[in-house]
Amino acid sequence: MQIGFVGLGIMGRPMVLNLLRGGYRVHVWSRRAESMTPLIEAGAIGCGSAAEVAASCEIVISMVADAPDVEQVALGERGVVEGARPGLLFIDMSTIAPSAARRIALRLEEYGVEMLDAPVSGGETGAINAALTIMAGGSQAAFDKALPVLQCLGKKVTHVGANGAGQVAKACNQILTGAGVLMVAEALNFARASGVEPAKVREAMLGGSAHSRVLENHGQRMLERNFNPGFKAWMHRKDLKIVLDEAHRLGVMSPVAAITAQMFNALVGGGDGERDSVAMLQLLERMSGVDSE
Ligand code: NAP
Repeated sequence: MQIGFVGLGIMGRPMVLNLLRGGYRVHVWSRRAESMTPLIEAGAIGCGSAAEVAASCEIVISMVADAPDVEQVALGERGVVEGARPGLLFIDMSTIAPSAARRIALRLEEYGVEMLDAPVSGGETGAINAALTIMAGGSQAAFDKALPVLQCLGKKVTHVGANGAGQVAKACNQILTGAGVLMVAEALNFARASGVEPAKVREAMLGGSAHSRVLENHGQRMLERNFNPGFKAWMHRKDLKIVLDEAHRLGVMSPVAAITAQMFNALVGGGDGERDSVAMLQLLERMSGVDSE
C-alpha cells in the first residue's frame, strides 16, 4: 500500500521510518527539503507538494503543528485535495481542536476524501519505538482501513468515536500530562528547597500512590536537567489553549487546565517555547529563588 506523510518533525520522522520498516511505500513532502533528505535515503519517495503525495496514495497522514497547518496541508494551495482520488483516507495525527477536526472532515467530504483524527500520546520515544497511544475519531470503515497502518506506529489504538472524538481524548490526555508536568516540577522543586535530594524523593514516590508515567519519564528528564525537545513547551501551551477554548465553548469548568496554561504562558513568554515542557522545573526554580547548582 502507498502511504503519504506530511510533517517530518520530531514525531513525523520516526513514524515514517516505522512505516518503511512495516513494508509500506511512503511518499513524503516537507516545506524544508532537508527534512526529507534522511527519509529519502532510508527509502521514502520525495514529492514536490502535498497534492503530489496524495496523487500516488490511498492514505495520507499529516503530523504538523496546529489546525491552520492541517487546513493548509489538506485544503490549501497544492494541498491534498488537489491531488486526491475519491476514496482517499486522510489521517491527521497532529493535536488540534476537536471543532477544527470536525470542520476539516466536513470540508474534505465535499472532495470525496474521508478523514480520521488520530492524535497520539507517547512522545518522541513512543514514536521511535512504534509504541504510541493513538486515539481515533471517524467512521468505523475509516478506522478499519487505517488500523493496520496505525498498528505499525503504535501499541494501543482506540476508536473513541466519530470525527473529533480522537481530539477530545487527546485534549483530556493533555489536561493530565500538562498538570502532571507542573505537579512533578513542583514536587521536585519543593524537595530541593527543603534541602532534600530530589532524585531520592522521586525514587521514594515511584513506589507509592503518586507513581505515574510523568513522574517516571518527565521526572527523570528534570533530574538529568535535559531540557532539549522532546515535546516543545509552546506545543503544550497550544494544547492547553485547545482545552480552555473547548471548555469555554461548552461552558464547563476546567480549573486545573487554567492554572497549568498560565504556567505554560509564563514559560513560553519567558523565551523557553522551543525547549521541552520539562523546563517548567526551571521556571519554578526562578520564581522561587531555588538554586539548582
Ligand atoms: P515539529 O518537530 O515542530 O514538527 C512539525 C512538522 O510539521 C515540521 O516538520 C514542520 O515543517 C511541519 N509543518 C508545520 N506546519 C506545516 C505546514 N503548514 N505545512 C507543511 N508542513 C508543516 O513538531 P512535533 O513535535 O513533531 O509535533 C507534531 C504534532 O504532534 C503536533 O501537533 C504536536 O502537538 C503533536 N505531538 C507531539 C508530541 C511530541 O512529544 N513531540 C507528542 C504527542 C503529540 P517545517 O520543518 O518546515 O517547519
